[in-house]
Amino acid sequence: MEITALAPLAPVPKQKPATALLSKVLDFSCVDGPGSRMVLFFQGCNMDCGSCHNPQTIGLCNHCGDCVSHCPQDALTLVRGSGQRKALRCDPALCQQCDDCLPHCPRGGNPAALRFTHSQMLARISANALLLDGVTFSGGEATLQRRWIQGLCDAMALTPSCRPLTRLLDSNGLLAAEHWPALLQRVDGVMLDIKALDNGLHRRLTGRSNHQVLASARLLAEANKLEELRWLVIAGCNDTDAEVAALIRLHRQLQSPVPIRLNGFQHHGVRPEFAETHPPTLASRLDQLDAQLTQAGIEVRRTGIQ
Ligand code: SF4
Ligand code: SF4
Ligand code: SF4
Repeated sequence: MEITALAPLAPVPKQKPATALLSKVLDFSCVDGPGSRMVLFFQGCNMDCGSCHNPQTIGLCNHCGDCVSHCPQDALTLVRGSGQRKALRCDPALCQQCDDCLPHCPRGGNPAALRFTHSQMLARISANALLLDGVTFSGGEATLQRRWIQGLCDAMALTPSCRPLTRLLDSNGLLAAEHWPALLQRVDGVMLDIKALDNGLHRRLTGRSNHQVLASARLLAEANKLEELRWLVIAGCNDTDAEVAALIRLHRQLQSPVPIRLNGFQHHGVRPEFAETHPPTLASRLDQLDAQLTQAGIEVRRTGIQ
């Protein structure tokens, strides 16, 4: 057989490692799922809820530079990005997480959001693993960066110190049905937010229809991956008799028993225009709803003193 010379291999282009944009990382939390959990708050959301307690996680930076002069630590700079474009950079060594820059972003973003590779995050999880029960992917809307999450979950499964940790996802449920399976292979459960059952009210509260959210609830329950439904009760708004009845109807349609977590709307962190028109929800109102849902045979969960 004639042996022909092999053509020299073309150089493999260097690829940048995949990164996720995170608004914040909490090394320990006891309110974002069972036990002690590290929480990754992803930057960017496809809803725009007036009641959002972390509105700085919604917007994405367009590198306008308006925030730069408002950092007392000089942690923010505009550097040369691709081509002629400038890009905002936050120096994690200088940033004190003081949040002074947040009100100065016209896009509702977080100037101090940072990018993480899988290996950077894996090292951080490993360093805390002995004190953790699990990791929660929250936001913003974590599923918008699902490919990075899937890669991190695969890396955790291959890392002895991280393998025992449970992996939970906090989601607004807007993810299309075809994208759930790859995520559900890698996470133990999903905590799904329910904002309103009436579609008109849902649109007013979030800017988006609830059709996909309700479809996600059914899909997740069918896959036995719905850890809990989370209902942020805004008194006098989404707690009418019709809303409660619709929530109970939805719950009865789900294929696996799912607890409902009641959270009361509070003003902390909320944009002023929404806080001015919606009073905080009292614990006594949550008690009433708790009794109604319990009477309907639903397991109710409460957070802290609420
Ligand atoms: S959070 Fe960080 S970047 Fe923002 S003002 Fe404070 S130190 Fe500066
Ligand atoms: S974080 Fe906001 S204010 Fe700062 S550069 Fe980006 S878009 Fe502009
Ligand atoms: S879905 Fe969650 S993170 Fe997104 S805007 Fe609504 S409350 Fe905020």
